[in-house]
Amino acid sequence: MAGPSTDKTSINDEDTSYLGDPWRDAGALTGFEPAIEQGPGLFLAAVGILIAGAAALFVLFWYSIAPRLEAFSPSLPVAVLLAGGVLVSYIFLEYLGIIATTYTGRALLLPLGRSSRVTIKLVAPARRLAKLLGSSADRMAHSAVRVSNAVTHATARGFKKPGPVLVLLPRCLQRPECSQPLVEDVDSCRRCGECPVAEILSLREEYDDVVMAVLTGGSVVPSVVRHFDPRAVIGVACERELITGIYVVSKRPVLGVANQRPEGPCRRTALDVAELRAAVETFVPGVTDVEKLDRE
Ligand code: SF4
Repeated sequence: MAGPSTDKTSINDEDTSYLGDPWRDAGALTGFEPAIEQGPGLFLAAVGILIAGAAALFVLFWYSIAPRLEAFSPSLPVAVLLAGGVLVSYIFLEYLGIIATTYTGRALLLPLGRSSRVTIKLVAPARRLAKLLGSSADRMAHSAVRVSNAVTHATARGFKKPGPVLVLLPRCLQRPECSQPLVEDVDSCRRCGECPVAEILSLREEYDDVVMAVLTGGSVVPSVVRHFDPRAVIGVACERELITGIYVVSKRPVLGVANQRPEGPCRRTALDVAELRAAVETFVPGVTDVEKLDRE
């Protein structure tokens, strides 16, 4: 496998947290939640507020410069207001498309909404909004992952790229006392059952074309994805890593599965294997009961 990249990847120049960085407030853990269950509505509501805020700011800005525009040409203020109105209307239609797709599971998206990148780009301001309103930034990120996943579910059939389905697992799934070198070779697991890795490997064997890698941190995601050149990617991580990871690999269909942190971040984490299975079956048809019997 290609060596780990040292590239730092952030979704926002102003956001100084990077893939693979330890949790900035891991010491304090104020408001820390070991597992988050949050529907897509929170993020969609935040995006609605952001769009309304941007439209209001535009109108205020227009109002303040309208007299100067009029000095150039009497019809210029109306033309600028109309242009802004058209742009805001288009963004609003994109937003409605994402809402409809999220809740119906059908691809009702305009061109911009088909990109996970656009959705994920909105997470940074949405997380700031959550903090301003006293809500949890991680809940907002979880909600955003649900929206991104819904968009991927609705559009995944349109991707025809060859290659395997790549499942990226965080090293913190492994028990600290286990010395098997999973990062070098995921199959070095002895399947003792002490951590979820054994069950995840069994799941992999039920499907063709599924490969897995255990990562030391999010910073190696680009090089691992380049190495496998997959047709789709499934990431397992905390919400913070998922958001940046989805952004990094969003040129391919990508799904995020949030992990659970019963002992705090980055230590003895767990996941819902049924959720991972559902993610795999988005890209790989599930084996039928008859096939299962044949294999036994
Ligand atoms: S299942 Fe056992 S051997 Fe495999 S990674 Fe987990 S603790 Fe190590």
